[in-house]
Amino acid sequence: MGSTLTHLEGALSGATYPADEPANLDPKDGRPLLARYDLERAARTLTVESLATRREGGMWRWSELLPVRDPGHVVSLGEGDTPLLPQPRLGRAFGLPRLYTKAEGLNPTGSFKARGMSAAVSRNAELGATSFIAPSAGNAAGALAAYGAAAGVGVTVAVPVDAPPASRDEALAMGARLVLVEGLISDCGRVASALAERLGAFDVSTLKEPYRVEGKKTMGLELAEQHSWRLPDVIVYPTGGGTGLVGIWKAFDELETLGFIGPERPRMIAVQAEGCAPIVRAFEAGERFARPFENARTRAAGLRVPSAVGDFLILAALRESGGTAVAVDEDSITRTQLLAGRLGAGYVSPESAAALAAVPELCDRGELNPDEEVVVFDCGIGQKYPPPPNLPEPPTIDPSNYDPERLAAKLDARSRTKP
Ligand SMILES: *Cc1c(COP(=O)(O)O)cnc(C)c1O
Repeated sequence: MGSTLTHLEGALSGATYPADEPANLDPKDGRPLLARYDLERAARTLTVESLATRREGGMWRWSELLPVRDPGHVVSLGEGDTPLLPQPRLGRAFGLPRLYTKAEGLNPTGSFKARGMSAAVSRNAELGATSFIAPSAGNAAGALAAYGAAAGVGVTVAVPVDAPPASRDEALAMGARLVLVEGLISDCGRVASALAERLGAFDVSTLKEPYRVEGKKTMGLELAEQHSWRLPDVIVYPTGGGTGLVGIWKAFDELETLGFIGPERPRMIAVQAEGCAPIVRAFEAGERFARPFENARTRAAGLRVPSAVGDFLILAALRESGGTAVAVDEDSITRTQLLAGRLGAGYVSPESAAALAAVPELCDRGELNPDEEVVVFDCGIGQKYPPPPNLPEPPTIDPSNYDPERLAAKLDARSRTKP
């Protein structure tokens, strides 16, 4: 039941490297390294039947397809096995009755960053790292702080000054060292890489080491299992660095080799914000790599990634799957965040709202059919962000001196005005 990790492979170069020493980017081309497994050996113990008996462990139930050799090195806070929720009310509003969300906000620290950091901290600590550093738009900082603390190792994070304050507090409260950077996540990435050696910290930037993507891959494994080994028609994913999209796509390949699923694939759709849409721009231009996006701006902090080292992997997955890339504007992110809340999808993050906002847009363009099954990744909770603009001001009352009649009338009037 242990890991069947065999080697690392340059995602662009195809060169192979040993798996049992610390690794960042491919020394040949500065592009990502991906973990490869002995899937024949994995298939001996990982079967549909054996999985059904593994009730505990969250994402670590998939141990054959994860990189940690010694289970004693697994640092887990209960990540994974998030529900796949039907969204009938929101789906009807969009004209898409078979709409589902994968509720990733239920992970520890409120986002799917937990999966990636659980894998990266576990595996790199197994390889000897005693301190970690990463740039973050917010959620990765909280997740790395949590897993680093659980592993008993040092954590440093570099975060843009205008990142959501709740994530900064979260990381600081769990003992992480934090640097505020007057710039974007790409600037934070350069700061992290300059500090890494000086601090003796291992750099776990998105796709700059091979294991965060392995953690996020489990979203694809789970989705297939929850869907009875039949994939949905369409997957909509809010794309920043693209770790999740690349991981989910990798999961499907591994599941096919294991014989769990056939060759059919969902159309993969990457959603970005209009203010930072390098992948959308490259997709539309037919380019293999994405140029850095200038003056990146969006309230969806996790999508404010002007350039991604795994851009070609994201673009390849979109094209091979017959999917697409779409950018949504800030108003529709806010409107959809409020609509999702009112129609039962919960208080979702602006990134999740962006992904949901793409759904009616894609219906209008004829890219989604009303009878299709669509899974949207609800990647994080809304509570960690500044609130959507223009929430109504609630009435304040003195409980020993107020007129219930007038208060009720006031509340009634309010419920008739839509946000
Ligand atoms: C990091 C993050 C994203 C982007 O995810 P990637 O897999 O890196 O593209 C989207 N939404 C939220 C809430 C995030 O924290």
